[in-house]
Amino acid sequence: MSKYGFSTNSIHAGEEPDFREGATGDVVAPVHLSTTFARKQVDIPTAGYEYTRSLNPTRKALETKLASLENARYGLTFSSGLAAETTVLLALVKSGDHIVAFDDLYGGTKRLFNHIFNEYGIDVSYVDASDAASVEAAIQPNTRLVWIESPSNPLLKVCDIRAIAGITHQHGLLLLVDNTFLSPFFQKPLDLGADLVVHSSTKYIGGHSDVLGGAVLLADTALYEQIRHRQNAVGAVLSPLDSYLTLRGVKTLALRMERHQQNALSIARYLERHPKANRVIYPGLASHPQHELSKAQSSGFGGVLSFEIKGSVVDAKKFLESLHIFALAESLGGVESLIELPAAMTHSSVDPETRRKTGITDTLIRVSAGVEDIEDLIEDIEQALKQI
Ligand SMILES: *Cc1c(COP(=O)(O)O)cnc(C)c1O
Repeated sequence: MSKYGFSTNSIHAGEEPDFREGATGDVVAPVHLSTTFARKQVDIPTAGYEYTRSLNPTRKALETKLASLENARYGLTFSSGLAAETTVLLALVKSGDHIVAFDDLYGGTKRLFNHIFNEYGIDVSYVDASDAASVEAAIQPNTRLVWIESPSNPLLKVCDIRAIAGITHQHGLLLLVDNTFLSPFFQKPLDLGADLVVHSSTKYIGGHSDVLGGAVLLADTALYEQIRHRQNAVGAVLSPLDSYLTLRGVKTLALRMERHQQNALSIARYLERHPKANRVIYPGLASHPQHELSKAQSSGFGGVLSFEIKGSVVDAKKFLESLHIFALAESLGGVESLIELPAAMTHSSVDPETRRKTGITDTLIRVSAGVEDIEDLIEDIEQALKQI
């Protein structure tokens, strides 16, 4: 583990200048576009590099950096968050295995389970993992893996990662945590007992809505070798240019996360007092049912909040379409503020009955607070609420 702090690692880890003979001392990891690497002797690949799918210096710099930020020993980066998830599943489960998963997981993860891995004989039970006991109750003799996300999307439910890790390990299983929403700046699941962390680095880690990517971070050598083997075999790797963009983005993660959180909290407090808003959900509010748990396991609450418009779907749409600064768009975690209507956008593929049961109402709005001036963001919301 590094002796340096988070910001120092986010800037320097994996990018130490190279002063060896013939090297140039770059302060920034060079973009190595070469797909193949020449060697002098048949049996000795140069510095371990053979072919970019297997290992690339720019990707390796990013993997080293991300591992240091999650307090992991190993990092692997992929062409998207879902590519990371697919590769992990190929390494960890086989036909006949069972997974216990949080019922409020990212929609794309559920699609991967339900439409793809189900066809290969992998069974998934969905439970409300914000109640740790329900995870234990769903474990079967063939369960191999517990898969959670905290806080969840778009309802910001919080799972007790330590408690679930305890249950998981008692049963000899692995715990995977999708840490996309808080990023390693606010939450380090491996320190709380998780075995694997996955990220969509498309979100906060990249941070500028301009590069798709995924990551897996872990400490166990045998597991790492298995996942690395599958990644090389299926080819779901992050490209050198995308590695570079992600390296560039992650250097300001700490600065951005602090501002994302500050703006999210200000917006949440403003909405809590507004007569046209209902049910403001943000783990940083004292009114959030797991506010204390959040404080105990995370150093912050992130930049995403949800709320309901007091009114009809037509009112909710009018509000969204009246905003000038907030972009009406899916995704989250970029410097620009984004806003969306889950029932009609990110979660439209979830059947209406399940949406109603889980609490994703038709007027629920999800906000990804950007890092703009808070006065401008509040003013924008204020004028748009006046339109309804
Ligand atoms: C976006 C997202 C993913 C999927 O990542 P992609 O990079 O879009 O493939 C997975 N989990 C969470 C929580 C996400 O927000």
